[in-house]
Amino acid sequence: MQKIVTVVGARPQFIKASVVSQAILADGHFSEVLVHTGQHFDSNMSAVFFSELGIPEPAYSLDIHGGQHGAMTGRMLAGIEEVLIRESPAAVLVYGDTNSTLAGALAAAKLHIPVAHVEAGLRSFNMRMPEEINRVLTDRVSRWLFAPTETACGHLAREGFAADSVFLVGDVMYDVALHFAERVSADGGRLGALGLSPRAYVLATVHRAENTDDPARLAVIVDALTKIAASTPVVWPLHPRTRGLLQSMGRLDSLENSIRLIEPLGYLDMVQLEKYAAVIATDSGGVQKEAFFYRVPCVTLRDETEWVELVAAGWNRLAPPVSVAAVCEAIAGAVGARGLAVEPYGDGKSASRIVGELASSLAG
Ligand code: UDP
Repeated sequence: MQKIVTVVGARPQFIKASVVSQAILADGHFSEVLVHTGQHFDSNMSAVFFSELGIPEPAYSLDIHGGQHGAMTGRMLAGIEEVLIRESPAAVLVYGDTNSTLAGALAAAKLHIPVAHVEAGLRSFNMRMPEEINRVLTDRVSRWLFAPTETACGHLAREGFAADSVFLVGDVMYDVALHFAERVSADGGRLGALGLSPRAYVLATVHRAENTDDPARLAVIVDALTKIAASTPVVWPLHPRTRGLLQSMGRLDSLENSIRLIEPLGYLDMVQLEKYAAVIATDSGGVQKEAFFYRVPCVTLRDETEWVELVAAGWNRLAPPVSVAAVCEAIAGAVGARGLAVEPYGDGKSASRIVGELASSLAG
């Protein structure tokens, strides 16, 4: 049996890896060795996903988090390199666009171990974003570029990637959503505990550095959500980084009077709050897509998005957090909005396509 080392470290990667790990097991060609870098480590940012989504225990937990991007990525690079030398896998599997993604890809590429990148080809064309740097560089050293959308394939083609290294497989997050959405109803759960009625609240998430590290942008988001909350309940599961920054801005305590600030949610609770929201306001990539999976209108609190097809189809609108009035208007305008009948993210079988491709490619 050939060996695959999978590198994960951050919340969205646990979610994406869950379905691919299951497909690896079902396929039977590979044994999988899971490496958790430790980038996200709070139990509600990490352990909860392993138990809810049935992800196997990591074989290696590197416990690397905090510090500047360079230092964090460097420590991960050294830690992953050691694992790869020891395990000598046939391939390394990485997801998305975090420091863990880049460290896994770079460590493997330097050891001449082929890299498979799930969620390849996404571009914001904003190289100030750490995510953009990570995904562009990871794509560059990958042997298999598993692209979720036609748009992503187009970017890779324009960047000169050989057609036989790019695979349009669909979005693994859609696989996960299809698997779990049916199990989640409006009864009880977080919705009940928070006393919320379906379609009568706004769900917000904010974690991107471009918003959290810029006090002016964070203030616009806070002020806009506070204004909305005067007429419609707003629920905001706070990413630890955002909580810390709101605290240091002195905004946390007063905010608690108007907005339902809650701890980060497990996946199933999050799906429930997404599925029954009136509008989702977010700067998350995954949450933008999930809003669409549940056909909930989305307002993206950024200057640009990688998931452009949702804006084109009318399910998502951009509201750069530079004006309180514009953000409020975008959220109010999104209530009840419907988009076109599009299916840009595949058929929910991305994970088995990825594993099938790796198996046939490595067998040859
Ligand atoms: N998510 C979650 N609980 C939360 C917030 C998000 O389970 O409190 C899930 C969400 O449903 C999605 C993923 O985390 O599947 C998105 O991750 P995140 O927003 O951290 O990163 P991004 O997608 O922007 O890379």
